[in-house]
Amino acid sequence: MKNKRILSWIMTMGIVIAGMEVCAGCKKGEVIVPDSTRFDVDFNAMDTYMTLTAYGKNAESGLEKAKTRIQEVEGIFSVTDENSDIYKINHRETEQIAISDEVMNVLGEALTISERTSGNFDISIYPVLREWGFTTGEYQVPEESVLQELLQKVDYTKISVDSDEKTVTLADGMEVDFGAIAKGYSGDMAVAALKEAEVTSALLNLGGNIQALGEKPDGSSWNVAIKDPVFTSEYMGVLSVKDKAVITSGGYERYFEDRDGNTWSHIIDPSTGYSADSGTMSITIVGTSGMEADALSTAMYVSGIEKASEYWKTYGGFDMVIITKEEEVYVTEGIKEDFTLMGNYKDKQVHIIEK
Ligand code: AMP
Ligand code: MG
Repeated sequence: MKNKRILSWIMTMGIVIAGMEVCAGCKKGEVIVPDSTRFDVDFNAMDTYMTLTAYGKNAESGLEKAKTRIQEVEGIFSVTDENSDIYKINHRETEQIAISDEVMNVLGEALTISERTSGNFDISIYPVLREWGFTTGEYQVPEESVLQELLQKVDYTKISVDSDEKTVTLADGMEVDFGAIAKGYSGDMAVAALKEAEVTSALLNLGGNIQALGEKPDGSSWNVAIKDPVFTSEYMGVLSVKDKAVITSGGYERYFEDRDGNTWSHIIDPSTGYSADSGTMSITIVGTSGMEADALSTAMYVSGIEKASEYWKTYGGFDMVIITKEEEVYVTEGIKEDFTLMGNYKDKQVHIIEK
């Protein structure tokens, strides 16, 4: 009788409870969560809309922890929040600024990729980005002389980290922005929170940055679609992945059109101060670290297909899908079996980049 009442109470809980079973022979009221039971949370963070999905035991509480962790990372890396660590760096009163291990870790990765790309990736691009209006939405094409002046402040080699003292020093007038890497890092942290909660199957969509934990409850791979960079409500291909981050950078993600009809995107080439124009429409990175995949997607987009291929051959540890301005598709050999064209790209040829 009592069990019946518990069961009817559970039934009235609706969709969240759907799929759960009362555990015969277990403690009173205890429930088994089948591996396929799905939970979702969605929210806005880091200037984007995020949807986190997890399955099975502890999925619901794990998702709450993952969401909290993402919000914490947002609080640390925001350029506008006066309490953020990055705001404190940009509005410093002393030359040397104390930083947390967390900031040091992400800064270290950013500087490594800057060095490896000879500055195509550079978090000190911020003053230039602001002049274009990408930080406020009040867009303008800056005067060439203004850009040249601001570019004097853009130089990752003038950011020095003291890992013993846990401090960072920047040259006068420099400002940094982690917009190309922090979202990827937050994906890693969300996955870590889910793992800590013993969740083994989850798919996180952080505004198009995808982070897959484990595999689907049925043991198959996750299917992650890549946007068509021209018809952006459509998809050009699908990747089959397990335990990977899939992160795309493309000029179509954020841009504005000037009076002459020229489009300017939010990814800036630090060697010119203008939007990167290296012949690619989008570059997707597939890797185990969301932080690295995020930084690399931006870095490789600025670098272009030839330098990106060189980078991949030299350092490896990730894969890429590249769509050129001619709408040619290039895929590194590590994922050639896991990638399928679709939509407007269905009948195209996939060029394989080999070591
Ligand atoms: P993503 O969408 O990951 O490619 O990151 C784009 C964001 O990275 C921009 O909105 C800027 O905040 C920042 N950014 C733009 N150009 C660069 C660059 N060359 N190096 C590092 N960060 C950049
Ligand atoms: Mg990025």
